[in-house]
Amino acid sequence: MRVALRFVRIVLLGFAVTSSVYAQSAAADVDARISKVIDSISESRMEQMLRTLAGFGTRNTMSDPTSPTRGVGAARQWIFDELRRTNPKLQVSFDTYQIPKGRSDRITRDVELRNVVAILPGRSPRRIYVSGHYDTVNLGNQGQAGLNTTGGGERNQNDNADAPGANDDGSGTVLVMELARVFAESGIDFDATLVFTAVAGEEQGLVGAREEARRVKAANVPVQAIFNNDIVGGSVGGDGTVDGATIRLYSEGPEDSPSRSLAMFVRRTAARYVPSHRVRLMARRDRFGRGGDHTAWNLEGFAAVGFRESRENYSKQHNANDTIDGVSFAYLAQNARVNAAAMAVLALAPPPPTVNNERGQPMLDRRPSGYDAHLRWNASNGAAGYRVFWREAWAPDWEHETYVGNVTEYMLPHANVDDWVFGVAAVDAGGHESTVSAYVAAPPNY
Ligand SMILES: [Zn+2]
Repeated sequence: MRVALRFVRIVLLGFAVTSSVYAQSAAADVDARISKVIDSISESRMEQMLRTLAGFGTRNTMSDPTSPTRGVGAARQWIFDELRRTNPKLQVSFDTYQIPKGRSDRITRDVELRNVVAILPGRSPRRIYVSGHYDTVNLGNQGQAGLNTTGGGERNQNDNADAPGANDDGSGTVLVMELARVFAESGIDFDATLVFTAVAGEEQGLVGAREEARRVKAANVPVQAIFNNDIVGGSVGGDGTVDGATIRLYSEGPEDSPSRSLAMFVRRTAARYVPSHRVRLMARRDRFGRGGDHTAWNLEGFAAVGFRESRENYSKQHNANDTIDGVSFAYLAQNARVNAAAMAVLALAPPPPTVNNERGQPMLDRRPSGYDAHLRWNASNGAAGYRVFWREAWAPDWEHETYVGNVTEYMLPHANVDDWVFGVAAVDAGGHESTVSAYVAAPPNY
């Protein structure tokens, strides 16, 4: 009898502790204002915009820019005007570059390249970007992206040929434009400055994104994250496989790199806000033998990740068949919601804690017993508490977590630092959680 009573008391005590911790940390995990932003994403507006974009016939960067109804000039002007019409809070501009002939083998003459940029100013200068490329290409019967076409077929040399690019990358472009609208209309006072960018020259070798990333780097703009979306509207693969419930997310390594950390953050945030859609993390730069604009940002040292639909149809890419019937707007909207959740949380969350000392070494030791994990970190501005994460050293994503309150050190007894990877995130009073800073040594220079 006494034993049973003691057992009950322990269980009750355990329950009380668990539920109070739960109340502290989990009650605010979902911010109703962010849910409202996500809910206001409109499939029909994205469809309308994509019909207009595909209606320019081609948006090839090398196409004739002088027509008011067809080609790259008409398309970029429409994107600019549409963003400007959307909301007066958006600061819309062309980001213009003169690209000399021969920059890549698809830059066949000197060309003026214009990205379209819409900025929603926040309280701080730190920036979060979402991008898609509005340019298109028709490579004729060599076009099928993803297939090895070496030696087969004739390459189309006509830059004015039909290249509707509904999915590649009209889908990413209208996703960016719709996010510009819902964030500008949200009325939320974001800490981060949000940048919505529709980029050109991707099909010539990431030219527009490389120029933009270089310019931003040279101006010392603090960019926290880039979410690139390229081919995110198709839910039926070329092999007939249907998948409208997942999205792939590519990120450059090594493990625990800023881009990998950002990718894990996206999956975690999406699971909270868009539980019906699953983010499939891909531990590689991009698809096999293919590239995208997030890599242009990686090359300048920024954390950047690339969203790609789960099942591609290669026969409807880089040719005249990339038409609007290959896009599912219900699927595209889900992908937009995943982006919106990640951007909104990141824009409201405190900065991630720094876990390295002045010499760049992780502040992790084995105290007090010599067999414990003792973590220290520097406080983040605006943090109300911290969450500690850990995983086995072979695991790709965090396996365990615990909310530790407003402290700057924490000890996990008998957790051997040789066997586990540890990390910590900052959480504000509203439950907005930062990316996780991992305690990892810098990779050696071989
Ligand atoms: Zn593309």
